[in-house]
Amino acid sequence: MADSTGTPRPVGEADLLVEHARAFRGRFGAGARPRLYFSPGRVNLMGAHLDYNGGPVMPTAIDRGTFLALAPRSDGRIALASTLDSALVEVDLAHLPSERAGRWADYPLGVLREVLSLARARGARGSGLDVLFGGNLPVGAGLSSSASMCVGTAFALDSVWGLDLARLDLVNAALRAERGFVGVQCGIMDPYAVGLAREGALLWLDCKDGSSEYLPFDHARLSIAVADTLVRRELAQGAFNERVAQCRAAFEALRIHQPEATCLRDVRYETLAEHQAGLDPTIARRAHHVIREVARTFSARDALRRGDAGGFGVEMTRAHDSMRELFDVSVPELDRLVESAVGTPGVHGARLTGAGFGGCAVILLEKGAEAELTRRLHADFSATFGRAPVVEVYGGDAGPREIQA
Ligand code: ADP
Ligand code: MG
Repeated sequence: MADSTGTPRPVGEADLLVEHARAFRGRFGAGARPRLYFSPGRVNLMGAHLDYNGGPVMPTAIDRGTFLALAPRSDGRIALASTLDSALVEVDLAHLPSERAGRWADYPLGVLREVLSLARARGARGSGLDVLFGGNLPVGAGLSSSASMCVGTAFALDSVWGLDLARLDLVNAALRAERGFVGVQCGIMDPYAVGLAREGALLWLDCKDGSSEYLPFDHARLSIAVADTLVRRELAQGAFNERVAQCRAAFEALRIHQPEATCLRDVRYETLAEHQAGLDPTIARRAHHVIREVARTFSARDALRRGDAGGFGVEMTRAHDSMRELFDVSVPELDRLVESAVGTPGVHGARLTGAGFGGCAVILLEKGAEAELTRRLHADFSATFGRAPVVEVYGGDAGPREIQA
């Protein structure tokens, strides 16, 4: 992990988790000796709103994430707590709730249901647990705290219950929990980016068939900065589900003209151009974004393979323009960050990351340019909005693991 000036500082993961264990004892009793787990967040560099359209995406895990502390209890109950909330949610393993309650505990409860059913299918059983969640990842900022939490929960349950499930089964359990029990129409990117993370690599994930490869990312030469607007939209989940529905509508209208297409990603630009007059104008703009973003993402991969960071960055910035003009998921705060980032020497490109509607911009830059970038982002953003963004440079991460603190 590095600070906003780009100076590397130790992750201190074990120290942070020792603190988390202390917080656990504060909640559940001084004698408890919990097992500790870390699960990273992710930042997506290319492929905006493509995962649920069957397109390719290019995320990487970051060295910030969710901390989990778990200790067994003998009464078959599961108690869930978070450092972000004073409430304690307690359920009986034999009678897990079948409906969401519209609170944060829905995420781990959804995962609990999924992992328990995988366990039962193998003739295994779960057992009671006290669990405390915490972490150092901004929540609701587009860095996927939800997938970090869900995949981390699946991983930790598998570990404490000794199930030995395959990593992909845990990732898919996390995905089903968020899609089903929690009710977000998300694609496969977030749990895959967290669960399949490899240090020093971007994940190339083809969301049509789930195939993936690792693309080497040169952390010695390039940095990934993330600037948080601190804007959080209460209605973002509804707006996200609306984009999913609009893309679905675009696909349904266009597949008539291209019957072999199985998702919007498959629709050719020529098909869209020829038939867009028959589409609702908003639906047509959504389709334009998706179909062009697919081409940009392939082109960014080619650039990365040639070692052309400038070429990669150009595609990032074009992606942002498209999200602002065609997909309507940017906000003035994000536009300001992107504008001042791309005007900074050493910056290759910038765009909003995650779903948008607030949250963070991701910036690709040459190593050494971090201090000037941070200075400019602070100055320009403050001049317009009267407050500073939070700018950080993140390192990569190797995915969920148990930590011996
Ligand atoms: P993102 O995944 O981009 O951070 P989401 O809206 O998908 O944003 O997920 C954020 C939600 O995940 C939070 O509102 C909360 O319900 C849940 N969450 C994530 N991390 C934690 C945590 N440490 N404690 C409690 N809830 C958490
Ligand atoms: Mg999320």
